[in-house]
Amino acid sequence: MAEPGGSKRIMRPGDEAPAGTPGTDEVVCPECEGAGELIGKPCIACNGTGMVNRRPENRESA
Ligand SMILES: [Zn+2]
Repeated sequence: MAEPGGSKRIMRPGDEAPAGTPGTDEVVCPECEGAGELIGKPCIACNGTGMVNRRPENRESA
């Protein structure tokens, strides 16, 4: 694929870990849709971050 421009990457600030990184299962909050807040009040589902850690099950070796 040819990239016109050369040094121009499509990356968002803060997006260091690409989607699908093991351990970083973060998805956009379904409640606020990534807004971090609802109408008139902060989103409690994502704690105002706009992202939620989606984990199907607790698979951590404690
Ligand atoms: Zn939210």
